Amino acid sequence: MATGIYLLNSGYDVEILEKNTCPGGACVGWERKGCYIDGCIHWLVGTNTESPYYKMWREIGALNDETEIFFQNDFSVFDFPDGTKLTVWADLKKFHEELLSIAPEDEKEINKFIRRIRRFRTIEGPVDKPVDMMSPIRLLHIGFTMWRDYFWVAKYSKVDNVEYGKRFKNKKLQYFFANYMAPGYNHMSMLYMLAHVMNKDGGIPIGGSMAMSERIYKKFTSLGGVMRFGKEVQRVRIIDNRAVGAETKDGDFYPADWVVSSTATEHCLKKLLGGEYPVKKIDERLANKEKYPIYTMTIAVFKCSEDIRNMPLGLHAVTEEPLVIDKEYDGIALRNYAYDKTMKTPDGSCVLQAQIVGDDDMYFWWKARKQNGTYREEKARVGKEIHQKIISRYPELAGKLELIDFVTPCTYERYLNTRHGSFQGFVHTKEGKALMQKGMVKGLKNFILSGQCIFQSGGLPPAMITGKFAAMRICKEDGVFFRTHSPSPFIIPITLKRKQKVR
Ligand SMILES: Cc1cc2nc3c(=O)[nH]c(=O)nc-3n(C[C@H](O)[C@H](O)[C@H](O)COP(=O)(O)OP(=O)(O)OC[C@H]3O[C@@H](n4cnc5c(N)ncnc54)[C@H](O)[C@@H]3O)c2cc1C
Repeated sequence: MATGIYLLNSGYDVEILEKNTCPGGACVGWERKGCYIDGCIHWLVGTNTESPYYKMWREIGALNDETEIFFQNDFSVFDFPDGTKLTVWADLKKFHEELLSIAPEDEKEINKFIRRIRRFRTIEGPVDKPVDMMSPIRLLHIGFTMWRDYFWVAKYSKVDNVEYGKRFKNKKLQYFFANYMAPGYNHMSMLYMLAHVMNKDGGIPIGGSMAMSERIYKKFTSLGGVMRFGKEVQRVRIIDNRAVGAETKDGDFYPADWVVSSTATEHCLKKLLGGEYPVKKIDERLANKEKYPIYTMTIAVFKCSEDIRNMPLGLHAVTEEPLVIDKEYDGIALRNYAYDKTMKTPDGSCVLQAQIVGDDDMYFWWKARKQNGTYREEKARVGKEIHQKIISRYPELAGKLELIDFVTPCTYERYLNTRHGSFQGFVHTKEGKALMQKGMVKGLKNFILSGQCIFQSGGLPPAMITGKFAAMRICKEDGVFFRTHSPSPFIIPITLKRKQKVR
């Protein structure tokens, strides 16, 4: 949708072929038993008006003057079985004091960690245009102003969070570092995330993910864009190494001057392009799941009749007895949606999601259950176990939780055609190289990749900026003036070209 909006502003006709029945991809929500279940935003980089992403969220209509943003002070809370609570306050001073009170014996390392977060708070790479489209003067300026930042980024990219945690004597801090991010992430990713949180740039738009996707969709259609739902693309039609349109599963063909794919790259390269156009940077990642793993989730969704507004929004409950899925998990991340009044049901209930973060193996485990016919049974078993674990940690919720939905990695695969049920890019491990693919596919003309899968780690901001970059590259190739807003009727267009069609 981001690509579409920028191209419509630049004078193109745009149609989107979407396999699902609503806009948004992974950034959606749905209803069960009268409850709205939010499927995405836990935090959104670009919610601070000073953030460079903020301007772009405004450009594509994701945020507007009416959008209320919720900023949580206690960003997440680790709740240990002995009653100790470690809160990641969205305030560096408070977070520093919290760590010192839990682990005074680690004062030296804690001070160092806090200094690193402070350093990362000032690091923000340019996101307005692709590096290869910047002028040499701009590049020199970036080089001069950011060379010290690259040192820290490079240094902590090569450190694993579990390893980093071992610098601390305190076992609870070791657990925190090992479990704050999804498995395998390097320490740079953790510092980057915490820096955004401390900069108050990790809020959540009220109304949630579906409302945000609908705002973008509204902007897209208001500019004349067309989105066709229930249209799963089967193949990109190619003639003489030039993309000429898309064929859908139901047998229709949509011709186009340009084809942009924002689907998962594996699905696109192997299925939609028939494996005939290799992209080295992507293929080497797909071939090595140890160095480039994905992460995914198993989620049990509960309707909760208790008013849990006083419970933290993000609570990592460490359990004494592990939960067994593909392996033993000793913690359940609870997300409490009582903060958003627009998500309340008429009877005052709210949603509590229990999320278990796993990797490729979690996907293979659920996939095998699907194949051997025990998928439903296992969902019921895991749902029941999660329920029991929540009640044993929080007895005040007994009799107040009803399991209303269950999501596994297979759910993400089914809806999004993603690799191993992932919903973000590759995990940035200490061994892996950062990914920044331009979107061009060697040997194939009039085709471009966009979306989170061509950008390290993925997430909504990368989905947006790669969408914008794809539009910029198309305009550059066609010699069309790239516009971020619709041209004013009083400005004479400076490029006169045949109107191009993009799908
Ligand atoms: C539980 C969860 C929590 C998350 N939390 C956050 C968060 O807090 N902050 C954050 O920044 N990000 C978060 N994300 C990630 C975020 O949702 C994604 O990074 C983002 O939505 C990716 O956008 P995309 O457009 O690149 O890909 P997608 O959203 O996957 O969009 C691709 C689109 O292509 C469609 N498609 C696929 N194959 C075909 C085909 N063959 N034909 C037609 N259409 C097709 C899909 O239906 C989809 O609409 C979360 C995701 C999940 C699931």
